[in-house]
Amino acid sequence: MRKKLIAGNWKMNNTPAEAKALINSALPLLKGAACDVAMCVPAVDLAIASELLSGSGVMLGAQNMHWASAGAYTGELSAAMLLAVGASCVILGHSERRQYFAETDETVGKKTRAALAAGLLPVVCVGELKEERLGGQTDKVVTRQTRVALDGLTSEQTISLVVAYEPVWAIGTGLVATDEQANETIGVIRSVIKDMFGESTANAVRILYGGSMNAANAAGLLAQPEIDGGLIGGASLKANDFAAIVKAAS
Ligand code: PEP
Repeated sequence: MRKKLIAGNWKMNNTPAEAKALINSALPLLKGAACDVAMCVPAVDLAIASELLSGSGVMLGAQNMHWASAGAYTGELSAAMLLAVGASCVILGHSERRQYFAETDETVGKKTRAALAAGLLPVVCVGELKEERLGGQTDKVVTRQTRVALDGLTSEQTISLVVAYEPVWAIGTGLVATDEQANETIGVIRSVIKDMFGESTANAVRILYGGSMNAANAAGLLAQPEIDGGLIGGASLKANDFAAIVKAAS
């Protein structure tokens, strides 16, 4: 049995004061969650979130990192920096980073290897554009993205990461993949992992769905056999909505 994970992606929202207010309202609602829970916050919120989440069982995550351990990379953060401030996971290859910040399959792969080597849990995002789905390219796109991101990893490393299937057309748009579409494409990703690392690894890896998941549609998506949780953008900014999704996963 794969334990479900609900991870919030705050994106570029919340100052440290706002982060404090949101975490303080969410934590009481998340008590007793029977799934894993993570909050992936902007870099400036990591310190306050680390303090507030300490001892709560909620994992703290970042939204990006560089693959190098240190050096002349203005504006970037290393895995060691994230760990030092209390993060235990990091979102990698989010479609917004691919789209607006020239993130490629190869850089996502480098970051994935660096995060695992440092002891961070990577949440590796893959997903097709609207044109790609309409053109029948979904399986091909997620296969390529998954293969390059996981290239060179061992089975043990692969088991200790999380993949998030996020169809780009569903992120922040209110358009949600149907339960069946999400389940089917996650099945494709799992079969790629099986091909690369074998059946037991594929059966152990958690693969989340992300894209306009909310309190109303979470239960249907999370009931699908291939879907091991959710990466939640907009709905993670409201304590009640996020807690309702966590409840649906518990
Ligand atoms: C995301 O940012 O990863 C995401 C899934 O966003 P939303 O839930 O707002 O679609």
